[in-house]
Amino acid sequence: MSRLFGTNGVRGVLNQTLTVTTLVKLGYAVGTYFKGGKILVGRDGRLGSPIARNAVVSGLLATGCDVLDLGLAPTPTIQYEARFQEVDGCVIVTASHNPPEFVGVKVCGPDGVEVRREEEAEIEDIFFGEKFNLVGWDRVGCVRRVSGAIERYIEGVLKQVNREEIGKRRFRVVVDPGNGVTALTTPYILRKLGCEVYTINGHIDGSFPGRLPEPSEENLGSLVEAVKAFDADLGVAHDGDGDRAIFVDEKAVLHPGDRTLALVEDYVMSITRGATLVTPVSTSQAVEEIAEKRGGRVLWVRVGSVDVSWTMKATKAELGGEENGGVFYGPHQPVRDGGMTTALILHILAVRGETLSEALSTLPAYRIVKRKVRCPDTVKDKVLKILEEKVSGERVEKIDGLKIWFKGRRWVLVRPSGTEPIYRVIAEAPSRREAESLADKYVALVNEAVEEASQGKFNL
Ligand code: MG
Repeated sequence: MSRLFGTNGVRGVLNQTLTVTTLVKLGYAVGTYFKGGKILVGRDGRLGSPIARNAVVSGLLATGCDVLDLGLAPTPTIQYEARFQEVDGCVIVTASHNPPEFVGVKVCGPDGVEVRREEEAEIEDIFFGEKFNLVGWDRVGCVRRVSGAIERYIEGVLKQVNREEIGKRRFRVVVDPGNGVTALTTPYILRKLGCEVYTINGHIDGSFPGRLPEPSEENLGSLVEAVKAFDADLGVAHDGDGDRAIFVDEKAVLHPGDRTLALVEDYVMSITRGATLVTPVSTSQAVEEIAEKRGGRVLWVRVGSVDVSWTMKATKAELGGEENGGVFYGPHQPVRDGGMTTALILHILAVRGETLSEALSTLPAYRIVKRKVRCPDTVKDKVLKILEEKVSGERVEKIDGLKIWFKGRRWVLVRPSGTEPIYRVIAEAPSRREAESLADKYVALVNEAVEEASQGKFNL
């Protein structure tokens, strides 16, 4: 059966791969799934999001759902608001970090956590089978506006950290919301924490004039420059919908997300003996070393925030995290939250009396190299079977794709992408050179397997 949901919700280019017609039908399907209940709806600042939101809302209303409209807000703010509204579910209209032409929809349950993959499959079943429960003309739902959600969210973040200690440091922070919706939250959180705040790309603009919404190193050159120019203690950048945060230290060095995840883990495990971190198999092994040292544990799961959130809920884990800058802080909410992550990093620096570069310098460090190999969706399963025969190492894990461990703290992960016609190859080793040579070797192996699988298909 064809899939509607990718790794993180439904995504596509407006009017091309994701049309208004599809979005209305998605609204029907989600409304049918939630049995005409009360649905919280919010959106990001993309140019296509008002259209996408109107289409999905129309579909929801036609199935008898009442809609609580939160308007523009970061994804974690919408998720956090669910607890105050006694809703049956949430719909978040966002394409996160995708390029500007994309729109997307995320479906969450009554607690704001994204629905499980089985629930996505049920919604897909309603969608493709057109099993829509459209109500009579006199029973359609209505829309009510929600106000105060941004303020409640900001208060929620602030109560998780030591405001007084953070305030004493008078941190100078540069924020780069990348013209996304975190312009509504992070600068205010920082101001309330007593920081001196500077903002770049700080107005919401769905054409993303400042930079692309993905907070990758190549898109964050201006943030690094701004940290230098303002002589700041910290720089922080978010993705388009604000569930991720990437940091620049006081020496204007940008750190990948798994470094800051390691720092948060080290702190959480140092204050809570036996704490649990839930993280996908693509995360650095540094987190396991930290857990060993601090007496905590790491639970490895499939790639994607849904699996992290649900495993956290099931195990009551204190922390979740992804290498892309997504940190899930359990005491606040078991979802990725860029605003919460920012406050938490400042809290750690304040209570430890360190700068970000000092705090990171004591943690184990590895090099990760990421590659992509083109692979048609139709042969992805077959490629995995072929690879299973070909690979060997000290240990092979099959949590998601194949993760092969070697002597000398080296591993490589090969897994089919859930959203693109590619295989991802991720290698980690103590040095960049080792990680690169491991990645090269496995890129060649995956290419071979794709070739074999495709030939097999033609032989049929
Ligand atoms: Mg995001």
